[in-house]
Amino acid sequence: MLSNTDFLSLEGTPGAFTVKVNVRPKYIDAAKCTACGLCTQYCPRHLVDEYNEGLSITRPIHIDYPQAVPASYYIDPETCMHLKHGTCKICVPVCRSRAIDFSQTAKVEELEVGAVVLAPGFGRVPESTLAKYSYGQHPDVVTSLEFERLLNPSGPYQGHVLCLSDQRHPKKIAFIQCVGSRDLGCDNGYCSSVCCMYAIKEAMVAKEHDPSLDITIYYMDMRTQGKDFDAAQKRAQEQFGIKFVRAKVADVTPWGKKGLKLTYSTMDGAHVFAAFDMVVLSVGLDAPKDAQDIAKKLDVELNAYQFCDTTPFAPLNTSREGILVVGAFQGPKDIPESVTQSSAAAGIASVMLKQQRGAGYVIKSYPEERDIAEEEVRIGVFTCHCGINIGGVVDVPLVDQYAGGMENVVYHSESLYSCSHDAQQVIKQKIKEHNLNRIVIAACSPRTHEPLFQETMKDAGLNRSLFEMVNIRDQCSWVHANEPEAATKKSMDLIRMGVAKARGIKPLAEHTVPVTPKAVVLGGGVAGMTAALTLADQGYHTTLLEKEAFLGGNLLAIKKTIFGVETEKTLKSIIDRVQKNKLIDVCTQAELVDVAGFVGNFSSVVKLNEGKTSKEVTIDHGVIILATGGTEYVPKTVLGKELVKSDKIITQRELETRLYAKNKKDLPNSVVMVQCAGSRGDDLNYCSKVCCNHAVKNALMLKDRNPKAQIIVLYRDMRTYGYAEEKYREAREKGVVFIPYETSAMPEITKKGGSVEVSFFDPILREDVIIAPDLVTLSVGIVPQGTEVLSKLLKVPVTADKFFLEAHVKLRPVEMPVDGVFVCGLAHSPKPLDETVVQAQAAAAKAAIPLVKGMVHVAPIVSNVNKEECIGCGLCVSLCPYKTIKMVVMEDKKKKAETIVASCKACGICAAHCPTFAISMGGFTNEQIYSQIEAFGKSIEENV
Ligand SMILES: Cc1cc2nc3c(=O)[nH]c(=O)nc-3n(C[C@H](O)[C@H](O)[C@H](O)COP(=O)(O)OP(=O)(O)OC[C@H]3O[C@@H](n4cnc5c(N)ncnc54)[C@H](O)[C@@H]3O)c2cc1C
Ligand code: SF4
Ligand code: SF4
Repeated sequence: MLSNTDFLSLEGTPGAFTVKVNVRPKYIDAAKCTACGLCTQYCPRHLVDEYNEGLSITRPIHIDYPQAVPASYYIDPETCMHLKHGTCKICVPVCRSRAIDFSQTAKVEELEVGAVVLAPGFGRVPESTLAKYSYGQHPDVVTSLEFERLLNPSGPYQGHVLCLSDQRHPKKIAFIQCVGSRDLGCDNGYCSSVCCMYAIKEAMVAKEHDPSLDITIYYMDMRTQGKDFDAAQKRAQEQFGIKFVRAKVADVTPWGKKGLKLTYSTMDGAHVFAAFDMVVLSVGLDAPKDAQDIAKKLDVELNAYQFCDTTPFAPLNTSREGILVVGAFQGPKDIPESVTQSSAAAGIASVMLKQQRGAGYVIKSYPEERDIAEEEVRIGVFTCHCGINIGGVVDVPLVDQYAGGMENVVYHSESLYSCSHDAQQVIKQKIKEHNLNRIVIAACSPRTHEPLFQETMKDAGLNRSLFEMVNIRDQCSWVHANEPEAATKKSMDLIRMGVAKARGIKPLAEHTVPVTPKAVVLGGGVAGMTAALTLADQGYHTTLLEKEAFLGGNLLAIKKTIFGVETEKTLKSIIDRVQKNKLIDVCTQAELVDVAGFVGNFSSVVKLNEGKTSKEVTIDHGVIILATGGTEYVPKTVLGKELVKSDKIITQRELETRLYAKNKKDLPNSVVMVQCAGSRGDDLNYCSKVCCNHAVKNALMLKDRNPKAQIIVLYRDMRTYGYAEEKYREAREKGVVFIPYETSAMPEITKKGGSVEVSFFDPILREDVIIAPDLVTLSVGIVPQGTEVLSKLLKVPVTADKFFLEAHVKLRPVEMPVDGVFVCGLAHSPKPLDETVVQAQAAAAKAAIPLVKGMVHVAPIVSNVNKEECIGCGLCVSLCPYKTIKMVVMEDKKKKAETIVASCKACGICAAHCPTFAISMGGFTNEQIYSQIEAFGKSIEENV
């Protein structure tokens, strides 16, 4: 990893590029720096801390934040007294590691690479755009980025929300949305997609810090179109009391001695004033400021907004072969989508580099594992503040002190971020110094952080199973956020139980199993086909199973994207490529009926239907990708009322088909489009993400074919996020009328003789309107298909809305919690074509990892049968949901149970039901669980 480095130039062709970079000196030897921070304490000069958005002061020698990677300090040459004036050098003797090195100079390096991925992120909205909101004139008008730092424990006020003017606690805060987005005044005609959701997040976090805060969010449309995002807005409203006001804020001016006054107009044209202590500007994501420079040096094309230009079927390919783009530089987007794009790009790049696969691998080595069999139990307990995530509620010093008093605990300490690089160094050092042989970390979720700490154990020469993680964040500071004393006591209880369990931990053996280098992709829509092609391009045999008699899925019914890109031809060519690919077996009319096995070694039974007959085949494969898509929802109710049946009421998809009819006479002269007619209601309580775009696309197409057509779109929030905002504007310019409705006064659709009437409240006219259009078009939303059956077959979870639930929203967005199972497309959540294609490429990239490695590590926590105790009753064999216990015949002809370790998921059902207690779970033996329960029964005082 080259940080502090500038890209200079690129030459060559795909597969053989030469990249020239300038590595700037850090003046610190990263190999020696332990990130102890002593140098910063002694450095006499001040420097505005850019990481904290200029809201605090740091020193020329510093690290940006505790978890920075690489965890090495660096010196700012512009402010360092030695580098500027040849004086000072106080840091040199202060540094105990002798890491300061003023002799370092800049180095130009040449890198030979086969592919390039651009990820320069986003830039800032110009300050001139913020000026009308008094930004830069009044200190209590801050940007959302500055507010993000104010909320952060490593921010300027350690996470306390204070006014910058006088450090008082604000009582009233306003968020203003769409600052620098959806604004032609600053040439940003697009929607930044993320600011509605981050404003909700920031407002909720601020309320968690100070529940008395009065927060109002001023918006045009709340664009919370992502998976489960509407639920977050509901929580913000109902649980946190955050107010949402649909209004365009005209300006912000100083008010009274310290306050700020907002002037805004409401839908009915009224001008309203409101006073606040602090105003947060939800700034959009601009293109990076050096976008043109990057584009010129790399010869890639930019779009009108200076973001990298791409197409919906190849969303990560730039205009130059061999150069890919991911993240916000491809267009504004959030973290899960950025992470998904990165996985996808890594997969595409690995196709480009496949000839070189295996070259240049460096296999990490670990010190020899210490044999602790004869050692006395020596436990180290490390308690984490997690910034203020835990420390803001739980009294961490008290908990740490309490842990120190427990039997066998020979070392204990607290840290601000246990997951930071320097904290790992400390853990390793303390293991050595105190000869620790069991480690308990009281911190956040083991789901995300256990592997990191286990890696540290291995680096320190200990078996990684000699580790116990206690989750005092989710289970204490989060769920008891308003009861700090109870949260502190519960933390003590959980640590006492963790230590009790740790006393009985034994090292567990690790197993590896070979992988069948084949994949199964379920679903032959654009997601499934893209995933299959990406895997085949990497060289892996893939079986594509489609339940219908043909490939193509939902895209077969779509003619063009909202941006006018024809889809029919490209879809045909994708189907053609899939069918001709020698590494892809296409099975149509296929149904997955059974799956056995585990990552690397699945065995699936597939039913192949041919007319009235069918046959079953078994396929062995290493991974499976779920791309089963979704369908248009058939609503039972629309806008809270039973759906009226009439041939004048159709769905957006049906309208799209009619719009391509040859005869113009069949086209309607008047249409009322009703948005959220299914989604965001009683039937489906989520946003289907694509229907606002669909409505705008159809409205524009109808205007194109029949310019006289009168079109009214009744909506709750027009969610034309990203560049689709341009099309929303174009539709308005072409005369399409958009009228918002509130859930408290929903439009009504009724039948009157042969016609259909729509009545609704017009917020501008301030009166009820009744219209009898030629057609009513419903945006009915999307539902997943078949996920419940598959979730049972594969033992994977679904959300309350029946979409597949990924392993982690941000960190593992295309992986399912069951190893070797991946998800993409509509089966994951509603999304448009380009996002589906990227997700499919990402799922294929992730699925290829075990196939490339050729083997998988099996978690050491598996069931273990004590053959002496086993009476061979076979109960465990019948109960194990993963078919992972078999009966074996022993030498004495007696039958005994035996675990197939590779497929054991450690659910513990067998151990819980064994009548003779012959089965125990590695890491969760009966003795360990009993001692944990015993520790639970003790009081805090007893233990101290
Ligand atoms: C106020 C605010 C709050 C947000 N909150 C959330 C949230 O809660 N959840 C969420 O999902 N999303 C949130 N987002 C969006 C999130 O920040 C983006 O999705 C994400 O940062 C995009 O990742 P990226 O890697 O593309 O860009 P960036 O995070 O901008 O990273 C780009 C990196 O590239 C480096 N770089 C730039 N140019 C070059 C170059 N020429 N050479 C080498 N390196 C270069 C930059 O220094 C930077 O480190 C928020 C955004 C804002 C503005
Ligand atoms: S509508 Fe779009 S630009 Fe405006 S705040 Fe919401 S996400 Fe940002
Ligand atoms: S119409 Fe569809 S995309 Fe638009 S807000 Fe409603 S559910 Fe979301």
